[in-house]
Amino acid sequence: MNLDLNDLINEVAEKIILHWNYRDLVEIPDAVRNVGSHVQEIYLKWNKLKSLPLWISDFSNVTNLYLYGNNIEHLPDSLRHMNNLAVLDLSANQLKELPICLGYLKNLRSLLLNQNFITSLPQSMSQLKNLERLFLSGNRIVALPEWLGALPVLGELFVDNNLLEEIPNRLTLSNSLSIISVCSNKLSYLPLNGFLSAPCIRFNSNPCLNYLSLPVLYQLMCKVQYPMSEESGNAIAHGCFRSNSKTNNCNIKTKLLLLSKNNSEHKKFVIELPRQLLVIHDIYENKVISLWELSLRKVYLSRFHHTLDISWDPPNVYVKQNPILDKINFGIDKYLKSLIPFGLLLNGPISICMNKYCNEPIFSEAWILLGSGKNTFAIPTIVILCCHRCATEFIKTSNFIENHDIYVYMCQD
Ligand SMILES: [Zn+2]
Repeated sequence: MNLDLNDLINEVAEKIILHWNYRDLVEIPDAVRNVGSHVQEIYLKWNKLKSLPLWISDFSNVTNLYLYGNNIEHLPDSLRHMNNLAVLDLSANQLKELPICLGYLKNLRSLLLNQNFITSLPQSMSQLKNLERLFLSGNRIVALPEWLGALPVLGELFVDNNLLEEIPNRLTLSNSLSIISVCSNKLSYLPLNGFLSAPCIRFNSNPCLNYLSLPVLYQLMCKVQYPMSEESGNAIAHGCFRSNSKTNNCNIKTKLLLLSKNNSEHKKFVIELPRQLLVIHDIYENKVISLWELSLRKVYLSRFHHTLDISWDPPNVYVKQNPILDKINFGIDKYLKSLIPFGLLLNGPISICMNKYCNEPIFSEAWILLGSGKNTFAIPTIVILCCHRCATEFIKTSNFIENHDIYVYMCQD
């Protein structure tokens, strides 16, 4: 380190913003500890820090801390006292785990954690009520927590280049999301329900993703410039909808086995449905719905009113959820309520019945139709309905084209 220590102390004492990028620093010298309580921004990009000093919280007025491109493996617990932090950039470091103390940064608005080795997010981060932008691209995250959808002002979520197999259903209930970016993951499906905030969703290069639900498809089509072209599949996302046979493996997720009869040659492929969906019926099956599903719908409807308005041509989707505040009307049987995991209700229904006069929430059991929208042949699309009657009604009144060449079977492995 070539820096003269006295110069450094003087610099800290005199300045509000410290520009310490590209200085080959391996540590922040203890000597500056007592002279920096007024400092507001620190740029420490591209140094060689392995950690932050325990006393970092003595710089108690720092709002912006940029640590891009260091070698940081751990963060000190004292970070929790940096109450004024609004922007924390820890991208391109060596973090494997995130500390619980991150959840104490109540004023944090932007958290940048790109290009680390993170596999999960601590539950404490669900307390980041002011977080607007979260960057997690280039990590090793397999699953995102459902509570992300409950962060009240989260507007931008970037999780490209991870190992995601699904994204949380609860994101559909967020009022604030404007961008979700999940390119280059291992997504088998997107949530089926329409998104309340109709965000822009980027999901290029998810080769296992073979279909969309009708409301999500319509929401995405509103965001692209030429949705009606022959290439509409490409306009929405590149590198998806390849209908690959997915040969991996052992889980208990419900799948649809699709047999496509193409020029008398049978092609076989599997699409994976959201794991919450436990029972599916062919559109022509007239079965009685299970008591479990009926209870979930009833309890949910006692607290929320969820509507989906689809006008078929031009494609447009409007989704709305109203919490019913009248506690007196909460009156669902207490015993019934005790049987149902509350999380299931909080994370929202997987879809709303697509019969436009129904809007029943659907949790674990549904009638499914597979085909394509009138102008979107390129994208295999599924429609979810709450009962046989709604399914029949939907076929009569919509412009949806059922794919008669594909036979639908449910399989579990
Ligand atoms: Zn229905």
